[in-house]
Amino acid sequence: MKTDILIVGGGPAGILAGQTAKGIDPELKITMVKDEPGIIIRCSEPYVIGGEVKLNDIIHSDDEMIGSKGITVLVDRVTGIDYKRKTAWTRNNREISFDRLILATGAKPFIPRIQGNKLKNVFTLRNAEDTKNLKRVSDKAENAVIIGGGAIGVEVGSLLRKKGLNVTIVEIASQLLAGAYDEEFSQKVELVLREKGINVLLGRGVSAIKGEKNVEEVLIEGERIPADFVVISAGVRADTELAEEIGCRIGRFGIKIDKYCRTSLSDVYACGDCAQSLSFITKKPVPSQLATTAVLEGKIAGANAAGKREEFPRIVNPSVTAFFDSAIGRVGLTEKQARDEGIPYVVGYGKSLNKYPSQREAEFIENKLVFEKETKRLIGAQVFGGKEGIDERIDLLSLAIHKGVRIEDLCHFSHCAHPELSPLPFTEPIVLAAEDALNRI
Ligand SMILES: Cc1cc2nc3c(=O)[nH]c(=O)nc-3n(C[C@H](O)[C@H](O)[C@H](O)COP(=O)(O)OP(=O)(O)OC[C@H]3O[C@@H](n4cnc5c(N)ncnc54)[C@H](O)[C@@H]3O)c2cc1C
Repeated sequence: MKTDILIVGGGPAGILAGQTAKGIDPELKITMVKDEPGIIIRCSEPYVIGGEVKLNDIIHSDDEMIGSKGITVLVDRVTGIDYKRKTAWTRNNREISFDRLILATGAKPFIPRIQGNKLKNVFTLRNAEDTKNLKRVSDKAENAVIIGGGAIGVEVGSLLRKKGLNVTIVEIASQLLAGAYDEEFSQKVELVLREKGINVLLGRGVSAIKGEKNVEEVLIEGERIPADFVVISAGVRADTELAEEIGCRIGRFGIKIDKYCRTSLSDVYACGDCAQSLSFITKKPVPSQLATTAVLEGKIAGANAAGKREEFPRIVNPSVTAFFDSAIGRVGLTEKQARDEGIPYVVGYGKSLNKYPSQREAEFIENKLVFEKETKRLIGAQVFGGKEGIDERIDLLSLAIHKGVRIEDLCHFSHCAHPELSPLPFTEPIVLAAEDALNRI
């Protein structure tokens, strides 16, 4: 078969690339090859494992988001591409010739070399099959060990604990959510998890996973932790297999792309978890395996493959993580990252209730803002508190970073107030943190 645009991969990057290209030029023949039937919302997988939502509720039909948009969907796997002949082959012996190619192949979980990592009941979490298996096994289990204290480890750990399991999270770094938060903010997460009864082991490596056939225990530097199953959540690696095969340049975090999401090969684009993003602040490559980055890059890749010339503004990596009744969010650089980059900076802190004190359900919300000292521009933020008010603030601060907002702008920004919905008018934590930073300059 022949197609104008071939998209490999049907996650958010591939879907948005296809929808955008079709929206720009409805005459284009677009074909998507995806090896997972249906579209799973990966962010919701932990909630299925925790028993809070059903697997069916987080899987959408291919037709709903792709087929109905006039895109041909093939549930199959691209096994090889001849770039010079612009032809791809699939597992089911299809031959597809294309004019332009969009690689949206996503990422694969990273599995550290640990003795016993192939035992039954050792899982990673990426797709519907993993989710189904983890739900089934955890429903009958008592003890879970999670290797890796990143966002997925924290979320899965808290949901398993809520389900009544004994949970240990072991993290080789000295803090949870390392790389995303400064230690003082990670410690707030650690405190909540410990208070809820999760055994958090930091700065400790797993020596081996032990068992006959099934997992029975995990050895952590001499200590034995009983385990009915193990979840390895040690990060992901970009899936660059096809890109490497056809000769695309590959960077440390994925396929190298420019601001138009073009790879080093003409007529070949890449987007989402498989591609290497550049930081808006440092202009350097950064890992950004987030659905929101995939969506943005997918739109840019799709638009440009359809003949437009749209630029991706580079990323600030806004993300939020929820656990028990708390949430934490971040965007831009942490203080440590600013220091490591050699950027002179000033920080400010703000803390207040997220509603008027008269509201019974009011909870504390606290934030830390990082500003570049010379320009006074916002370059990073971390927010922690109850579940309300974290994501909105991270989104606002994300836009603020992209728009070059300075300390004074945040000291004087005009915001709304309402007893049920916001802090008191004079206690908005973003304003308090900006004022604090101004005082420290
Ligand atoms: C448990 C979990 C929770 C998450 N929570 C969040 C969250 O709260 N917020 C957030 O922003 N992000 C979250 N993420 C990350 C987010 O899901 C990813 O960043 C996003 O899915 C990336 O989209 P993508 O389209 O680039 O890749 P993917 O979603 O991985 O899709 C790529 C697809 O391509 C397929 N593929 C690969 N090679 C081929 C081939 N040769 N032929 C055919 N198909 C192929 C893959 O099988 C896959 O189906 C979470 C991820 C997980 C696993």
